[in-house]
Amino acid sequence: CGIVGYIGHREAYPIVIKGLKRLEYRGYDSAGLVLYDGKDLKLSKTKGKVSDLEAKAEKEITQNGSIGIGHTRWATHGVPNDVNSHPHLSNSGNLAIVHNGIIENYEPLKKELINRGYVFHSDTDTEVLVNLIEEVQKKENIKLGKAVQIALNQVVGAYAICVFDKQKPDEIIVARLGSPLAIGIGENEFFIASDASPFIEYTSNAIYLEDEEMAIVRMHKDLKIRKIKDDSLVDPYIQELQM
Ligand code: GLU
Repeated sequence: CGIVGYIGHREAYPIVIKGLKRLEYRGYDSAGLVLYDGKDLKLSKTKGKVSDLEAKAEKEITQNGSIGIGHTRWATHGVPNDVNSHPHLSNSGNLAIVHNGIIENYEPLKKELINRGYVFHSDTDTEVLVNLIEEVQKKENIKLGKAVQIALNQVVGAYAICVFDKQKPDEIIVARLGSPLAIGIGENEFFIASDASPFIEYTSNAIYLEDEEMAIVRMHKDLKIRKIKDDSLVDPYIQELQM
């Protein structure tokens, strides 16, 4: 399973597809991606190989976009099929998430969200997390980063995630606990991936998130890394990768 994300000035689609192919060695049963075209989220996902996703996305996604996130899934909750594939959208359609890992306490969280009127389309634990983030965001009327942090503090399990909000299209929120996540730092662009192989050709500067850390990856801003638990700021340690 793997994650690839891009925010910057290039077309995101080829970077995400090529990146997912580089992560194929990690093993997976489905693949998907979402692009932001400046107005809306364009979603394409399928059971099968990244090449199947490529064939599908080329029909479904006609617009370009310079923000995208992609995923290869190794199913843990819900069979491998198109609907259970990632990305998952929140009920409002504003938030998109990709997730590697397991949300162990997804059942009680799901029940509570259903009581609050949320509808679920997949059998995944991941769709619970994206709607939990949305619920926190609505209830507390706070920024996305804060909502992700509060939601993650209610979660038991393991994760590497990317979250994108089309109402705040200059940032991607990433976080990790137990699953790897690297951030490649270019000039006015960022790459996100499970390991550096999807972005090594674009930049040799990378940050590897540690467990229990999250980052707000924002255009034209310094990268802020925080501890998920106590909100303390972490000094980003930028590594120089060997090309
Ligand atoms: N638990 C999630 C699912 O089953 C993510 C699996 C993964 O790590 O790819 O959809």
